[in-house]
Amino acid sequence: MARRLTRQLTTGNGQLTLNICHLYPDLMDTYGDKGNIITLVKRCQWRGINVRVSNIGVGQSLDFSAKGGPASGWDLYFFGGGQDRQQQIVGQDLQKKAEDIKCAIENGTVLLSICGGYQLLQNHFKTLDGKMIKGIGLFNANTVGSTTRMIQGLLIELNPELKNQILSIYPDTRYQIPDTRLVGFENHSGKTYLESETQPLGSVLKGSGNNGKDGTEGAVYKNAFGCYLHGSLLPKNPHFADYLIAKALERRYGIVNLKPLNDFLEWQAHQSAIKQTNHQS
Ligand code: GLN
Repeated sequence: MARRLTRQLTTGNGQLTLNICHLYPDLMDTYGDKGNIITLVKRCQWRGINVRVSNIGVGQSLDFSAKGGPASGWDLYFFGGGQDRQQQIVGQDLQKKAEDIKCAIENGTVLLSICGGYQLLQNHFKTLDGKMIKGIGLFNANTVGSTTRMIQGLLIELNPELKNQILSIYPDTRYQIPDTRLVGFENHSGKTYLESETQPLGSVLKGSGNNGKDGTEGAVYKNAFGCYLHGSLLPKNPHFADYLIAKALERRYGIVNLKPLNDFLEWQAHQSAIKQTNHQS
């Protein structure tokens, strides 16, 4: 009760609207990644920011203006995880949406993808039984199915450039982000290898990350992020949720100063998830 009151007192980003496109929510939500959408929606609402979520599936067009939205399209795409079989269906349909998505990312739109979604945004994913699923090459990386299931808590240190950007999202200097690391739960057998210049999202402190060997986790291209962090990721990593919201609003409205929220419970969840990874911090 007291917590909700604090939330209301921190509103003040009214008259802004965040337009979210949830890609393939029916086929790509085996691992509860929808919690990320709920977090984005709630964190906007707590600040008085309007949110609109559109579910786009197989055979549906990404033409946002045709659905009554602004011609400049969605502000944030979300693409969750799924299993190999669903990835084959989605992978084919995604080819028809590739140009729109890539063009949006070139123009600064934000995208968060997890696991199966992340794999389909790469050049290709070769499954363990040898099927080649073509990706859209947004991230210059490839995934190969393996016999090892990487299933455990995953803790990462953000890449330094991103870490600096995240530290600057709250202009109120009295508010300090307690921890910039990201924590989640990975569950994949695909091993991802980043090509030469591709930037990782971060480096692995605990868990396997992209492939369990090179210490990298995820990928970044402009404001598009891919990772293996299920969990869901955003409920217990409020700094990253706010970074995505701030970046997504920036394209439409210019720099938006987000008011800090009372994230006591979120940071407790973050700490508790880190504890479960057995990382000695
Ligand atoms: N099929 C993929 C893998 O196991 C993706 C799994 C997922 O999205 N969690 O590598």
